[in-house]
Amino acid sequence: LIQTPLRYHRPSTVEEACSVLLEHQGNVRVLAGGTQLLPLMHRDEVRVEHVVDPRDLGLATIRRDGERLELGALSTYADVLASDLVRDDSPLLARAAAGVTGGRQILQQGTLVGSACFNFPSTDFPGVLVATDARFRIQGPSGTREVAAADFLCDAYLVDLEPGEFVTSFTVAGGAGGYCKLKHSAGSWPIATASARASLTGEGWQVTLGAVQAVPVTVEVRAREEVDEAVRDAVDRPWSDVLAPGWYRTQIAGVAARRAIDELEEVTA
Ligand SMILES: Cc1cc2nc3c(=O)[nH]c(=O)nc-3n(C[C@H](O)[C@H](O)[C@H](O)COP(=O)(O)OP(=O)(O)OC[C@H]3O[C@@H](n4cnc5c(N)ncnc54)[C@H](O)[C@@H]3O)c2cc1C
Repeated sequence: LIQTPLRYHRPSTVEEACSVLLEHQGNVRVLAGGTQLLPLMHRDEVRVEHVVDPRDLGLATIRRDGERLELGALSTYADVLASDLVRDDSPLLARAAAGVTGGRQILQQGTLVGSACFNFPSTDFPGVLVATDARFRIQGPSGTREVAAADFLCDAYLVDLEPGEFVTSFTVAGGAGGYCKLKHSAGSWPIATASARASLTGEGWQVTLGAVQAVPVTVEVRAREEVDEAVRDAVDRPWSDVLAPGWYRTQIAGVAARRAIDELEEVTA
């Protein structure tokens, strides 16, 4: 049971949403799918008196935007899995969405932007969004701005959002990708993820590691034999929690990276 008296706001414009978020700063959250937020409120780990539901703002669209793909902030894992555009243009998103656990409720309710904004290190999407060069479109009281995922994800549970701001959509780059997540059991959180894409230098791969540090880290590797060393060099602040200590995550990150590269090679063969 949520103990705090709660006011539910359902704005009909993004400007209205921003002004509610600004007016109640520190005491308000955006309510997307609620799959993270509502359990936290039930457990009294998040205590706010206002929630803003953006469902009337038309933010569940997926469309091409020039060379990139734009996904509205309310796009769910199920929307991604059902989208031909995502499958054709940015298959890495669909690949990672297919591995999300928690059953239909999480697939239908959980949004990729909600995952990014919560920024829990041991999840799939922070790393996948960095790997796909996601750029978040943020609306605030003084207008809009765009922030790359690697800058948006500041630290564990911390993102670059100012009072009154919220994410309206994000764009991703196209192109093939390979993905691997390592976890203890079918239903548990990942302890290391790797997203591999062809390197922009034209030689080797760009591998983004997730769940290994508080925020994702990207390494360039030219040959398979270099993977373990490149990964160990890149991980300087490993993430530890009840699932796995940091040293273990660092050890297995190389395995995840190699498997992601193998998958990329397979899908592009
Ligand atoms: C049983 C279970 C299994 C799961 N399995 C996986 C898994 O396998 N892989 C994985 O990666 N994740 C997994 N998750 C986590 C899941 O990814 C997230 O719960 C979901 O994506 C969060 O999205 P949401 O829309 O529900 O966010 P919400 O819970 O609504 O919001 C989360 C946070 O983001 C903020 N927020 C949301 N949208 C915006 C916005 N547009 N602008 C600003 N702030 C915003 C909210 O205020 C809140 O602080 C699982 C969760 C559960 C409960």
